[in-house]
Amino acid sequence: MRDFSHDHRWLSINTATVRKQRGQDWPLPQILDACAQRGIRAISPWRDQVAAAGLDTIARQVQALGLELSGYCRGGMFTYTDAASKQAMRDDNRRALDEACTLNAACLVLVVGALPGALSGSPAHRDLAGARAQVTEGIAALLDDARERGLPLAIEPLHPMYAADRACINTLEQALDVCDALDPNNTGALGVAVDAYHVWWDPKLHQQIARAGRARLLALHVCDWLVPTTDLLNDRGMMGDGVIDLKALRASVEAQGYAGYSEVEIFSAANWWQRDGGEVLDTCIERHRRCV
Ligand code: ZN
Repeated sequence: MRDFSHDHRWLSINTATVRKQRGQDWPLPQILDACAQRGIRAISPWRDQVAAAGLDTIARQVQALGLELSGYCRGGMFTYTDAASKQAMRDDNRRALDEACTLNAACLVLVVGALPGALSGSPAHRDLAGARAQVTEGIAALLDDARERGLPLAIEPLHPMYAADRACINTLEQALDVCDALDPNNTGALGVAVDAYHVWWDPKLHQQIARAGRARLLALHVCDWLVPTTDLLNDRGMMGDGVIDLKALRASVEAQGYAGYSEVEIFSAANWWQRDGGEVLDTCIERHRRCV
């Protein structure tokens, strides 16, 4: 396993980690400058942050600062209720793919969606199996576009608590089943994003990481699981503050040959989003050296 204790060359910052400090949006250009000033070499930005600053502006800044994108957040939300919403979803995913290409991202992260309408509080139906079928179909269609562009798609299984509203792919096993069905020759065009927060509890975690192998392991996201967790979305912990064995997780993915960035992704409304952004980045660096 790589030694992370002396430097942070393999640290990436998911920019949602510092997106709104003390109630105010921290603009992406400032986040990128703050990362570069600290020797952080990679980021993973969200589409809305990029759109707010302008895609071309961010692309130029990323290049000028010598930053890499460990991923781009995000595509997906593949479920739909009618032809119009299906077309809108497809178009939006193609735009996400184009943006990821412009930014030279390592992959487009997919949060696949679940029961249509559930995220806004009114699920259109209760057919989770049907939703999962639409997800597979949606990934298949996007995969054609991704192959044309040479931009890999990373399915991110989400913790089962999000099965109704955000993602009905909830385990690495499920995600890899989709990968094997759509990309049986394991071409590198389709794989998974392993996010500690979503998969740490899974009894098949290490077995499925071994099944994934180097070609399917496209991203590693780290944070911690707090006990107690007080919010289903925005109470992620800083590495070292919770119960996830992050070193065991990293050892497992690196045993398969994963040699990419480890991306810190923390949504923390009550704690880390209430602090100075620079302090949060400094803490990420220190914890990444000690706890990941
Ligand atoms: Zn993630």
